[in-house]
Amino acid sequence: MQAPLSIHFIIIGGGISGLSAAIALRRVGHEVTVLEKGDGRTNKGYGGVRMAPNMSKILFHWGLRDKLLQVAAPSKPLLFSKFETGEVLGTQLWSDELLAETRGQFMCTTHAELLQFFYESAVAHGAKIRLSTEVSEIDPEEAKVTLSTGEVLTGDVIIGADGERGLCRRLVLGRPERVTPSGVTLFDTIYSTDRVMQGVDEELAKLCALEDNTVFVAFGANRAATGYPVHKRKDIAF
Ligand SMILES: Cc1cc2nc3c(=O)[nH]c(=O)nc-3n(C[C@H](O)[C@H](O)[C@H](O)COP(=O)(O)OP(=O)(O)OC[C@H]3O[C@@H](n4cnc5c(N)ncnc54)[C@H](O)[C@@H]3O)c2cc1C
Repeated sequence: MQAPLSIHFIIIGGGISGLSAAIALRRVGHEVTVLEKGDGRTNKGYGGVRMAPNMSKILFHWGLRDKLLQVAAPSKPLLFSKFETGEVLGTQLWSDELLAETRGQFMCTTHAELLQFFYESAVAHGAKIRLSTEVSEIDPEEAKVTLSTGEVLTGDVIIGADGERGLCRRLVLGRPERVTPSGVTLFDTIYSTDRVMQGVDEELAKLCALEDNTVFVAFGANRAATGYPVHKRKDIAF
């Protein structure tokens, strides 16, 4: 379906939100310019990311299933254990019936690969993406943005996709975002699968079922850990 009137959207921020908005708008024929202050390689590091079916189903609907499968692996089993003892508590499966209802897949990949996937897909859909381009001022009434270089761009509509601490949120709220510390610290890292599996006994290795891209979850007292295979199972993201 094509929109009866083509509108020029300026999207501030080329993360997952900005690039997916760009694809959606290009699909119906709008003009799209994405302004991203970073270099486009990664904006959340190189760690892992799990994609719920409510996201993958949209990408499937957009005809991006095969491209997505090149960077993300479908995962069905979740293995739960106790953090302190390693005792296995049980497994849960994304059943075929449940997945059919969601119309998506639960998938594992990395932030950097996912961002690259969105970037390439947005470009293939005809979005204009300007990297290393920082917006320093926004005039929402005139749909006008001023870049840090002083250049001024005008569109019909501005979409704010510049993240939780971006300019747009401040503009909409009318004040700087008040960040309340949650008291929780999150670490993320990636290890080679060979290294992680060293010394794991046969019984547990069988349960891990890496070939099924199992997601491991360990619950403890005020702490938890999760791990899942990425990079075609060469590494495990924690
Ligand atoms: C360690 C970690 C693990 C996570 N794991 C998961 C997970 O497993 N599953 C999941 O669903 N979610 C996960 N998340 C959350 C998920 O990554 C975020 O919700 C998502 O990336 C937000 O995307 P976004 O595009 O809205 O914002 P962002 O990714 O923050 O993108 C905003 C973009 O705007 C750009 N920008 C900002 N200001 C300007 C400006 N003035 N001019 C131009 N550009 C600007 C920034 O450079 C950035 O690229 C995780 C997050 C972290 C940090």
